[in-house]
Amino acid sequence: FESRLLKANQEPAVTLDGVPVTLMANIEKPDEVKLVRDYNAAGVGLYRTEYLFLSSSRVPSEQEQFLAYKAVAEGLAPNPVVIRTLDLGGDKPMAGNPELFPKEDNPFMGFRAIRFCLEHQDIFRDQLRAILMASAYGKVKIMYPMISGHEELARANAVLADCMSDLKSRGVPFDENIPVGAMIEVPSAAETADLLAPDCAFFSIGTNDLIQYILAIDRVNDRIAHLYEPTHCAVLRTLRRIVAEGHRGKLEVSVCGEMAGDPVYAPLLLGMGIDCLSMAPPWIPSVKYIVRAMTMADARALAEEALQMNSPREIYAKCEAFYRARV
Ligand code: PEP
Ligand code: MG
Repeated sequence: FESRLLKANQEPAVTLDGVPVTLMANIEKPDEVKLVRDYNAAGVGLYRTEYLFLSSSRVPSEQEQFLAYKAVAEGLAPNPVVIRTLDLGGDKPMAGNPELFPKEDNPFMGFRAIRFCLEHQDIFRDQLRAILMASAYGKVKIMYPMISGHEELARANAVLADCMSDLKSRGVPFDENIPVGAMIEVPSAAETADLLAPDCAFFSIGTNDLIQYILAIDRVNDRIAHLYEPTHCAVLRTLRRIVAEGHRGKLEVSVCGEMAGDPVYAPLLLGMGIDCLSMAPPWIPSVKYIVRAMTMADARALAEEALQMNSPREIYAKCEAFYRARV
């Protein structure tokens, strides 16, 4: 089976009824570029940029960041690379920096990601300039994590516009039409996706956080891990809503949480209209395999049926049966 998987991975990601699907890679470090190419990903759908910040207690300079982002953009050009701005805090505080990251009782609901960046705009600006400069070397997109509503998006975009005029006035090259999108991973963003869409070039759904916040299940607490249900009806209804609002605004809608890399869930997500799945590179062959073994018509029927059901466990069983019948 393993060798069948790897063989199919050389083929395009197209369903049996001819619908192309975009399969992208999640990475954390520039040296993963080779892995992205080896696994035949269509690009990077999520570049988590925390690594440079977590690998030392020092905040990396604009130049250090630029070199890292440039290496990825250049190494994968002309394929797109979605660079996510800092998502520090929560489960990822920077060590040795209690003044930047004071201890919190509820880190997942705390001073994290875009909230941190909007308060520490010096750090945010350095990163945005580094990403913009890298955009001159490939196809770069910017993505904000943990957006919870339109005001945050507008504030982040204002800082970005400022960084752009700064570079422009200094004659530093960058992609002036760089696409900018939001992660949809906070329920309030999902609920107001129609308000976010006009100011986004794309949506990328972070199911890891979205599920934990919808269900109030800490994603890293083993005691309640069995209650963390990607097929919970509330999750599926939320996904459907995000896709509908994204598509109404003519945006591409991706999923970049763990759910995207599970071949049991991939047909359900694609059947709901998700345009692109982004996952750890080693998962790409098994997701591509099921994409090539199914029709989009069947995946749509699966999603429609799942949305009529009321038991997360039965929905999971249905997805699993769909998968087993095709591999
Ligand atoms: C997510 O929340 O699904 C996601 C992709 O982001 P992270 O796992 O880095 O929080
Ligand atoms: Mg997240």
